[in-house]
Amino acid sequence: MLNMNAVYASVPDITQHKFIMMFSEFKKFAMRGNVVDLAVGVVIGAAFGKIVTSLVNDIIMPPIGVLTGGIDFSALNIVLKAATADQAAITINYGVFLSNIIDFLIVAFSIFFVIKQMNKLKKLPPAAEPHTKSCPECTSDIPKAATRCPHCTAVVA
Ligand SMILES: [Zn+2]
Repeated sequence: MLNMNAVYASVPDITQHKFIMMFSEFKKFAMRGNVVDLAVGVVIGAAFGKIVTSLVNDIIMPPIGVLTGGIDFSALNIVLKAATADQAAITINYGVFLSNIIDFLIVAFSIFFVIKQMNKLKKLPPAAEPHTKSCPECTSDIPKAATRCPHCTAVVA
């Protein structure tokens, strides 16, 4: 079994110190909120990308294919050089490119929509208790705790 104390003892103190400093710096960096947010964003984004790709390839493209007379988008290409016995054809796969553009547009629109909703939620003002009430006699705004209106001197509840 590896004796860690022996390993530490064999490492010069200054190196140990540097390593501990570096580790604590890294810990500080990794624990900052925005790094965690970023990591969550990347993971969610990757999963979200898969859903969008599936949406485009499996849900949106087949009806478009039917509408356009059974064209398989991913097979659309321009042959630059026909296949020979020992070489595959060289093609420009603009069908795949179009699918990727549609992917991107849907992702961009979805993210725009999500951010729009989040901004709407953020803008909601905190439900503040009103500090005033309206006088039943003269309808002026008066302090909530007032028992007599400062404007018309009417006694208010
Ligand atoms: Zn009043």
